Amino acid sequence: MIVLYLTIVINPFLIPLANYFAKRVLSNMNNKLCYNIPMSIKTHIISFKQGDIIFNAGDRADCAYIVESGTVSLRQSGLESELVATLEKGGLLGEMGVINNAARSISAFAETDVELLVIDTEQITTRLDNSDPIIRGVMEVLLTRIRKMLNDGKQSQSSNQKTNNVIVTEGMHKIRFEKELFSALENNEILNVYQPIIGLKNNDIAGFEALCRWNHPEKGMVSPFEFISLAEESDFIIKLGLTIFDDACKHLQKFQDLHSIKNPKLAPLFMSINVSAAQLTSHQFLAKIKAIVDNYKINPKHIKIEITESLVVDFKSVSTWIYDCHALGFNLSLDDFGTGYSGFQSLLELNFQTIKIDQVFVNSMETNPKSNIMLEIITDMAKRLNMSIVAEGIEEGDQAQKLAKIGVDYGQGYYFSKPVHVDEIVKRLK
Ligand code: C2E
Ligand code: CA
Ligand code: CA
Repeated sequence: MIVLYLTIVINPFLIPLANYFAKRVLSNMNNKLCYNIPMSIKTHIISFKQGDIIFNAGDRADCAYIVESGTVSLRQSGLESELVATLEKGGLLGEMGVINNAARSISAFAETDVELLVIDTEQITTRLDNSDPIIRGVMEVLLTRIRKMLNDGKQSQSSNQKTNNVIVTEGMHKIRFEKELFSALENNEILNVYQPIIGLKNNDIAGFEALCRWNHPEKGMVSPFEFISLAEESDFIIKLGLTIFDDACKHLQKFQDLHSIKNPKLAPLFMSINVSAAQLTSHQFLAKIKAIVDNYKINPKHIKIEITESLVVDFKSVSTWIYDCHALGFNLSLDDFGTGYSGFQSLLELNFQTIKIDQVFVNSMETNPKSNIMLEIITDMAKRLNMSIVAEGIEEGDQAQKLAKIGVDYGQGYYFSKPVHVDEIVKRLK
């Protein structure tokens, strides 16, 4: 009963509650091989045949599972020992040991052929770091108590009945989605599309913004809104961000070559690449992106690193990063200008070369005269500060004309082009 209670009721709270144990678990993470899963297995689903041992009481615990199909039994020890619980699709097992880095307290068997989704330790532990210390304390007491009761053999006798303990918590959905996301990168399902950025004076293509997509086998193209924030919750964003960066530079090299052949007198094309907070603070990020541009022989001044206005809160750490970034020759663009509360302070304290005015201003040009005034003021300010200015979300020709008249340098939006596949850009540049 206790295990069932833990699985059904407490589980949703376990993950955010257990930070206390994260450091101990993390210290063990050099050896991440999950019991019964050979290292070579890339997929996040693992199959067991009826009668197989999934794990034994006393085994080291370094992953948890969600039942995808079939029936799993949790037992005191051997296959003939007392049944503690039966889990079916959606049931979670093996989570206790992961949380407090202890040996498995019970055994798990495949009652039928089963498929299990593997939850890596770090999927849980990276989230544990931020949990409330009081809750972590309560969690420690709970886990110790439950383990003691299990060891004393005091678990419920009424657990023989089959329980369809489907976990419908948001947390579990999230973990499943995250796991799919990890595999997506390995399976090359994450790709960049490119939206042209147009010079408003001459209507020529000046550069691109790289925007990532997840080409999901079932869901089709998934928007970055759906997965970037999830990726930002763990170190995965660093790996993802570097892949995006590498692809964008590889493609820029191709775009620049084609463009210079056709338009030798025009300035080389640039590439704007979005960067998340976690990437800025990640060790070696700058060294890695420098290595990428060097590899593709791209001049870093043709890369505009886009940092969203709302991200620039910790000025001190960001300013050091920005200083280093400039020292390597990269350009910086303040994205979504006008939507956060730190925009002007960012401009005051940090050294950006470009401002990107958020699309809300462009959207409301027709309906709200104040938008036009603000656009004029922001453009004037950018000029005086010797910065270039890009307007996002241009959907009408009228908007493009008005913005050009105001003096906005570049425009980006569906009026010119939606973000498109690399092959389409190559076709257009030929
Ligand atoms: P963002 O950086 O502000 O990108 C502009 C968004 O506006 C893009 O949405 C683009 O497709 C959309 N857009 C462009 N023109 C128009 C237009 O005329 N009308 C309208 N309504 N929308 C337009 P998308 O591609 O869905 O990206 C959403 C956000 O996801 C981006 O906003 C950015 O914050 C984030 N993102 C995208 N790719 C990356 C990435 O590689 N790394 C990181 N960290 N974030 C990314
Ligand atoms: Ca952007
Ligand atoms: Ca933007």
